[in-house]
Parts: sequence; structure tokens; C-alpha cells
Amino acid sequence: MTVQKQILELLESLRSEMHMAGILISHDLGVVAGQTDRVAVMYAGRIVETAPTQQLFARPRHPYTEALLAAVPRLEQEPHTRLESIDGGLPDMTRPPEGCAFASRCKYAQQKCREVVPGLDASSGTGAVGHPHEVACHFPLGGLSVAELGMPRVGDVDDRVLEVEKI
Ligand code: SF4
Repeated sequence: MTVQKQILELLESLRSEMHMAGILISHDLGVVAGQTDRVAVMYAGRIVETAPTQQLFARPRHPYTEALLAAVPRLEQEPHTRLESIDGGLPDMTRPPEGCAFASRCKYAQQKCREVVPGLDASSGTGAVGHPHEVACHFPLGGLSVAELGMPRVGDVDDRVLEVEKI
């Protein structure tokens, strides 16, 4: 964790010195929450949701994003609590499925999902003007708050990273 922190600080100082934008590719949602302004969530090689970081963590609209956030461990959990997981596995992308690539694992899937690939659509999102929240889903989530979804807030994720770094 200490090395990770040093590398992230180095990247940030280089980015700032050279006045560059940066793209961070990570599975670590704590790092993503703390280091980015905008997030693009990818599944099976496609962007399925993109939004300003705070907004995406606070109000995920794609079922895969919801499942990813539900799998983040929380400090208040009892020791040995089983983490949430996403049933099933990635589809064979040498023979991509007809419709949504997440359909076989999605608890909201309907017939249309298995037949038609959903496009990335800003109109189904909730982004403010100039900060689009785009979702590739036929039945995007209603934008419930993290409290309603029982998920950690961005601050909680940052706090958890900081707690680990202090050890
Ligand atoms: S399009 Fe359907 S299967 Fe795909 S994520 Fe949305 S609800 Fe789930």
C-alpha cells in the first residue's frame, strides 16, 4: 500500500508538472475514487457507464457498476463477512453474445437484453449539463442513493485506503 501511494503521488506530480491529463486503469475502486475526475466502467471490452467520479459512486446506473460497488469491503463489516460477488463469468468474447454481454449475470435482465446490444446513452443517465452520465443498459437503475443501495460513499472508500496506509 505504501508503494502504491508513492507511485500514485509520483504520477500526480508528473501530471501536474507537465500539465497533462492522465488515464488511470485500475480494478481498485478506492484508488479510482481518490485519483480521478471521471470514471468509465468497462465490461467485456466495452464502456458500460461513464460519469463524473462523485456521481458514478453516489448514483450508479448500470447493474455491473452497482455489483462492483456492492463487492467493496466496508470497515463496519464483521470480520469474516462474505464479500458480495457477481455470479457467473465473462462471456466468451470470441463468440460474443447477441445482446448485452452482462445479461447472463444481471439480476435485472429481460428478453430485450438477450437480443439487442444496448448503446451508450446519455439520455438514460442523470448527468448535469456538460457532465454527461452515460449508461449502456436497456433498464438502467433509478439512480438510488448509496445509502438506499447500502453501499459505501466515495469518502468511505478514501477513508478505507487511508486507514490501510496508516498501518
Ligand atoms: S441491458 Fe439488461 S442485462 Fe444488460 S445490464 Fe441492462 S438490465 Fe442488465
